[in-house]
Amino acid sequence: QLNDPDVLKLNTNENPYPPSPRVFDAVRAALTTNHLRKYPQPLGDAFRAAAGRALNVDPDGILIGNGSDDILTILTRAFVPEGGLVVAPTPSYILYRSLAEIQGARFRAVPFAAGWQLPEAWPTDGNITFLPNPNSPSGTVVPLAAVERLAARVAPAPLVLDEAYADFADDNGLSLVGRVPNLIVTRTLSKAYSLAGIRFGFAVAGPAVVRELVKVKDSYNCDVLSLAAAAAAVEDQEYFRGVRAKIVATRGRMAAELAALGFDVTPSHANFLWCRRADRPVKPVYEELKRRKVLVRYMNYDGYDGLRMTVGTDAEADRLLTELRDIL
Ligand code: PMP
Repeated sequence: QLNDPDVLKLNTNENPYPPSPRVFDAVRAALTTNHLRKYPQPLGDAFRAAAGRALNVDPDGILIGNGSDDILTILTRAFVPEGGLVVAPTPSYILYRSLAEIQGARFRAVPFAAGWQLPEAWPTDGNITFLPNPNSPSGTVVPLAAVERLAARVAPAPLVLDEAYADFADDNGLSLVGRVPNLIVTRTLSKAYSLAGIRFGFAVAGPAVVRELVKVKDSYNCDVLSLAAAAAAVEDQEYFRGVRAKIVATRGRMAAELAALGFDVTPSHANFLWCRRADRPVKPVYEELKRRKVLVRYMNYDGYDGLRMTVGTDAEADRLLTELRDIL
């Protein structure tokens, strides 16, 4: 993180808008000696009740995490033995491979089929499969029917549907939890709820699965202040819908203007856009943007490269577009 106020950060998919005002009230209320002196509630029952109501899921089927990366770590530790196998599509989130390596497990990257869809063949010997939906860096989605087919194929091993960006999409997999016994959905408050600094994520799965995962997590993996912030954030669904609507609107405008500048922009269901060019390399564009204090993410997957640009405010999008117009 750079502290220069002139830097425009469009490289890690943070939310440009502040969190709900209720988050600040909740954190202030939690800042008492009596709260800070004691350990937090280990399962985050107040958060689970709030999220259960907001998302219409069983609170006993929610596992809290110190960011959804913590949840992905807990899942890997719980399901993957040393020498085991972790499977994920590629190009996608690069953490899955690191988690496999830390666990002393093997990693198999399965290339997406055309249009960022799932291929017909998928390994059936994995101990866990991770599927980000929407995917990063593409922002594309796999339909729920295909998710269900993949879950059946890898069963009884778990399919982890990493829904870090699902809050910006039209549909999500929560309705499949319970009906598809080996499906585990992961969520974060880092993106749509503007709380990347708080570190809070969670999993939604069957209560019996969550009871086992609780044995693997650190007893107190979420602190008093983050639990207070997270519960307040999910309770304020009206504020959440307002922020989401603004980002979705800017996403549409940014995509159209980037396309007009000559980028191949993949239609996105997330809060970022995957931009490539046929006519020139994009790495120098990224470097020149950086020199002008506009940070986007340059991604290179074995030679398949592009720029992943976070959707900011309208003013931020304008600054990015002005710089790009000048550079190009
Ligand atoms: N999954 C995906 C696909 C992501 O892009 C990210 C953000 N880097 C995460 C999970 C983790 O987010 P967090 O730990 O902030 O919840």
